[in-house]
Amino acid sequence: MKYISILGSTGSIGKQTLDVISQHPDRFQVMGLAAGANWEELIQQAAQFRPRIVSVGTKELADKVRMHVSQDIRVTYGSQGVLEVATWSQTNFVVSAMVGSAGLAPTLQAIEAGKTIGLANKETLVSAGHIVMRLAEEKKVEILPIDSEHSAIHQCLQGEDRRAIKRLILTASGGSFRDKTREELEGVTVDQALAHPNWKMGAKITIDSATMMNKGLEVIEAHWLFNLPFTQIDSVLHRESIVHSMVEFTDSAIIAQLGTPDMRVPIQYALGDTHRLPLDVPAFDLSQALSLNFAPMNFERYPALRLAYECGEAGGTMPTVLNAANEVMVERFLKGQISFTQIESNIEKVLEKHQRIANPQLEAIWDADHWARREASLV
Ligand code: NDP
Repeated sequence: MKYISILGSTGSIGKQTLDVISQHPDRFQVMGLAAGANWEELIQQAAQFRPRIVSVGTKELADKVRMHVSQDIRVTYGSQGVLEVATWSQTNFVVSAMVGSAGLAPTLQAIEAGKTIGLANKETLVSAGHIVMRLAEEKKVEILPIDSEHSAIHQCLQGEDRRAIKRLILTASGGSFRDKTREELEGVTVDQALAHPNWKMGAKITIDSATMMNKGLEVIEAHWLFNLPFTQIDSVLHRESIVHSMVEFTDSAIIAQLGTPDMRVPIQYALGDTHRLPLDVPAFDLSQALSLNFAPMNFERYPALRLAYECGEAGGTMPTVLNAANEVMVERFLKGQISFTQIESNIEKVLEKHQRIANPQLEAIWDADHWARREASLV
């Protein structure tokens, strides 16, 4: 039996995780739910899944939640509340699905407390991959990928000798502006950027997909999860999002994982500890003609991906700064304060100013994250 806490239960991944859980009540039970502002969704989730603890963003919201949930549910709030949900004693599996590097601290605490992690929050590994992976190894905690690309690679590697990996090939749909040239990106709107052709996801990752920063964050995430150098992690454009990623082996054989784009599949694969369980999702229809397209990645068209490779190779605090600057720029773009192309150019300006610290401890990671956010708000 998995006793599960979900960090970010009201988000796209959080809700799909609850859907998976509801399909297997004999295997999965909700212990804790942590949300930010969406307290109304949280009370509905609490009524349906009867967790032992819930957390919301602020004390005011917690007071409202308390009035609507059963008295035996502990209601807490703020970053301390998320930590409590992440480390709840009866929980043995934590789904890390908050957005941004806010997910780092509770994920680290959950690892410290010995919980298995289902990791959707890629920013955690981008910000502090060396610290997270070291702690997981020390505590003998498994980190199971939920991101569809990393889940695909994880699936392709089952039963394989890791020493025979030639390279990982991450697929990228290209996001909402994949058919536009760089010149055509001038003046695109927030609504256009939020219209992803294949996936329905939270706002931040949808913008990251349009800039291709999402693939950059995933390349860094893959580096840590699969312990491979960046020279063995490639990306390829694949507009259909049917092939979720591939592994090429030393004999040139390639194993790919395919399916309709539905995050419940990788979520369940993680929750089930790689055991396959029935899942009610739309089937992949091979009765219709189908073409799969692949095209080489274009680093000039997608400079954010180039920046991510550069920061990943440089290591130290560079990925932390890349991630924090990106979070601020995406937020500023969503608020209409900067244009779409300024997301990339402003991130580059912040990176140019940063004095890299090699092998940072957690304190230096927080400092770099705060420094980058301040700089990013000023460019
Ligand atoms: P959403 O924006 O849909 O959801 C984010 C969740 O985090 C919400 O529940 C939100 O709460 C919660 N949250 C935000 N800040 C806080 C906080 N300070 N304290 C507590 N909760 C907080 O994001 P997604 O679900 O799309 O993405 C989540 C993560 O998963 C991201 O790292 C993303 O990159 C990754 N991911 C997402 C995929 C997808 O298909 N969506 C695919 C692969 C990875 P509230 O809404 O109540 O404010």
